[in-house]
Amino acid sequence: MSTYPIHETFHSWQGEGMHLGRSAYFIRLFGCPVHCPWCDSAGTWHADFKPKNIQRVSALSLASKAAQSGCEFVVITGGEPTVHDLKDLTSAIRAEGLSIHLETCGAFPIKGNVDWVTLSPKWAARPLEQNLATASEFKIIVEDATSIERWVTELGPYFGERPVWLHPEWSQRSNNDVLCSITNYVKKHGAPFRAGFQMHKLFKADLLDSGSLDSAPLGGNPSLGF
Ligand code: SF4
Repeated sequence: MSTYPIHETFHSWQGEGMHLGRSAYFIRLFGCPVHCPWCDSAGTWHADFKPKNIQRVSALSLASKAAQSGCEFVVITGGEPTVHDLKDLTSAIRAEGLSIHLETCGAFPIKGNVDWVTLSPKWAARPLEQNLATASEFKIIVEDATSIERWVTELGPYFGERPVWLHPEWSQRSNNDVLCSITNYVKKHGAPFRAGFQMHKLFKADLLDSGSLDSAPLGGNPSLGF
């Protein structure tokens, strides 16, 4: 049975998307080769924040802890979780009777059986066609007032009727141009576009669990290269 490099595991609630507010157990894996300039989980890959020793935990142990938490479902996230073969992990979680949600940039094949995929595309590593076809919802990170139009030009034909969440990039959450671009886009176009926000950060919900780490500044720090 495989082991996985773990950054943190914690019980909280899903802070965004269609499953907002539902009790969820988060498994955050190490590793991401994409290196976005505003990454809010840089602790999973950036040299300034990675701990010296990264614990590897078995799929069975991770699944067991998730089941003991009493969560409604498990979220596998990162970093970029699909750089790992997730088959053993997803099998073990499923054997505990839990459904599995995945958060990914979509640039790598998904190895494992999941129930829900949130695909948040990144310019530094474009999503694969197969992942665009099977994603359950999309999350566009709105960095500036041009972000939405640029992503719609790039991926618009793929969206169909699946929700497309428009989230202000966290460090821009008070930027009026960014917020207005989201509001105006939703008012003009309606479905499948929806205004979104990372609600768990307002509540500091994740940090209430002792398994959650706050090892990198939220919203990135461009002066440090992320
Ligand atoms: S935002 Fe996601 S894809 Fe981008 S560097 Fe961070 S973990 Fe990787």
